[in-house]
Amino acid sequence: MKSMLELVDVHRTYLIGESTVQALRGVSVTIEQGEFVAIMGASGSGKSSLLQILGLLDNPDKGEYRIFGNNVNTMTEDEQAGVRNNVAGFVCQQFHLLKRMSIVENVRLPHIYSGVKGDFHQQAVDRLRQVGLEERVDHTPSQLSGGEQQRVAIARALVRDPLIIFADEPTGNLNTKNSIEIMKIFKGLHEEGKTIIMVTHENDIAAFAQRIITMRDGVIISDERKPGFEASEVAEKESSFDIHGSGKASLWQDGRFTGFITQAFQAILANKMRSFLSVLGILVGVASVISMIALGEGAKAAMQEQMKSMGSNLLSIRGGSAKIRGAAQRAGAVARFTFIDVDEIASLHTLVKSAAGVVTGSGRIVYGNKNWSSSLNGVGYDFGTMRASIPKVGRWFTPEEIQTRAKVAIIGVTVVNELFGTTNPLGKTIKVNRINFTVIGIAPAKGFSGPQDDDDVLIIPVTTAMYRVLGKDYLSGIFVEVASSTLIDQTKSKISALIIKRHRLKEGDDSFNIRDMTEIQKMLSSTTQTMSLLLGSIAAISLVLSYFAGWAVKTSLISVVLATAFSALIGIFFGLWPAKKAAELKPLEALRYE
Ligand code: ADP
Ligand code: MG
Repeated sequence: MKSMLELVDVHRTYLIGESTVQALRGVSVTIEQGEFVAIMGASGSGKSSLLQILGLLDNPDKGEYRIFGNNVNTMTEDEQAGVRNNVAGFVCQQFHLLKRMSIVENVRLPHIYSGVKGDFHQQAVDRLRQVGLEERVDHTPSQLSGGEQQRVAIARALVRDPLIIFADEPTGNLNTKNSIEIMKIFKGLHEEGKTIIMVTHENDIAAFAQRIITMRDGVIISDERKPGFEASEVAEKESSFDIHGSGKASLWQDGRFTGFITQAFQAILANKMRSFLSVLGILVGVASVISMIALGEGAKAAMQEQMKSMGSNLLSIRGGSAKIRGAAQRAGAVARFTFIDVDEIASLHTLVKSAAGVVTGSGRIVYGNKNWSSSLNGVGYDFGTMRASIPKVGRWFTPEEIQTRAKVAIIGVTVVNELFGTTNPLGKTIKVNRINFTVIGIAPAKGFSGPQDDDDVLIIPVTTAMYRVLGKDYLSGIFVEVASSTLIDQTKSKISALIIKRHRLKEGDDSFNIRDMTEIQKMLSSTTQTMSLLLGSIAAISLVLSYFAGWAVKTSLISVVLATAFSALIGIFFGLWPAKKAAELKPLEALRYE
């Protein structure tokens, strides 16, 4: 007959930083089924280390350990966990009960961890009856005395009907009377056929066992069986254990999943604060994912809006170098465009659809007792369609108004808000740099491009701007709409050649520059990207922020679904993972997770 447990020359050395502690220095012992063994010895002699190896809570560094003839060294961690869950019950000095659960829940716990199907309430109650606590099933541990708590721990150790009970100083925290009660329970279990291996340093307690192993400095110095005691009769029947079948329990095995779910709900009920925080975490997760997507979408939509408002296939021709922005340039280096340039460009038929001169400056606008400064754009007739600036409220300029330097103005919504409030501005007279203008339209809202408010504008005919308001006789720039997007490069070089010829410039002169929308698009998208990065980092609070800042936010159904699914996945993962981990854990460690 194979021995139930067999250790051969087992060593265990602990590493603490640089130093080592040799807790076991060659222990050989055999324990048969049905024995009641007490392991005795002074503190630090290695009793607990030995018990942990016997209980598969720890493995030897050297030597062999066989259970029913199976070498533990060759078992995987899973197999060891399986054997442990099915063969061993543990009782220790600290009872390790979960404070917020009733004792019947506590006793059921090993079942839930093992993943066996069923609710095991009745089994738990039966075990509690066995230790004399059937009246207390709904109490929490704090309502019980130390002795009673240890009895609960024993019931918990018994609930899966283990072959062997491992007990480490089970009476260490109890007074004599309670200690005797506990030992009586152990004695009864032994008589039923359980194998009991118990660590104690008290002779009275050890006296309940039939075999006493004494340790000193990591070795066994004596091993005595009391005369007259034999291994319990009930247990003599040869028994074995299918080690390889026991460690394979997967998460999806029968009942295991529902076991985890049940446990999750129990944990939620037992732990309201932590659950609340988890839920809050998930909510923040959902909110941040939704808001990140929304802001990304919003930025994209805003950009597309902006592209539309700029017009398509657009070229912008300006005086000055393209490379230097706002920096001083050498004298005479800025090309000054006139209406002749506009006309000549507009007459590049197959390439150019339309061209419009613009002049820019700033205008001080007065209405009644209010005044406001805006950027002033003097524009040609085609600018309206090219730059999507034709008013939806009011009208665009007529060609005559542009030719005759008419004093008519179109104002942006910011200007309307600042000067008119809720009053209808159409037909009203405003002063621009002290000259009277009639408001004929409100420019379509464009929003911001970067820090600049594109609605804080005043648009007037280019001629009026040049000769009446700003006193300039040249244009600030020319907008050109190319006939088709495929002709952009060709048009650019044609216009460039034309300007160089007309202004008698040298080839490669940098006194003017032509930009097309793709460049501007690139510039814009890089700005958007930077913004997205910034927004991402504050994603969690962006919903609130966007509300206050009025940023473009676009929520789509798919983003909500995606975010919810993602967060749920995270939630399930972080809910199940610890439960799965706990099932693999050694029982005492699992309980310490609380
Ligand atoms: P006993 O249970 O007989 O008091 P232990 O087996 O707990 O003895 O400990 C034996 C020796 O190993 C002691 O010197 C102890 O300090 C050391 N020891 C026990 N467990 C660890 C550990 N996890 N890490 C480091 N040293 C340990
Ligand atoms: Mg100990």
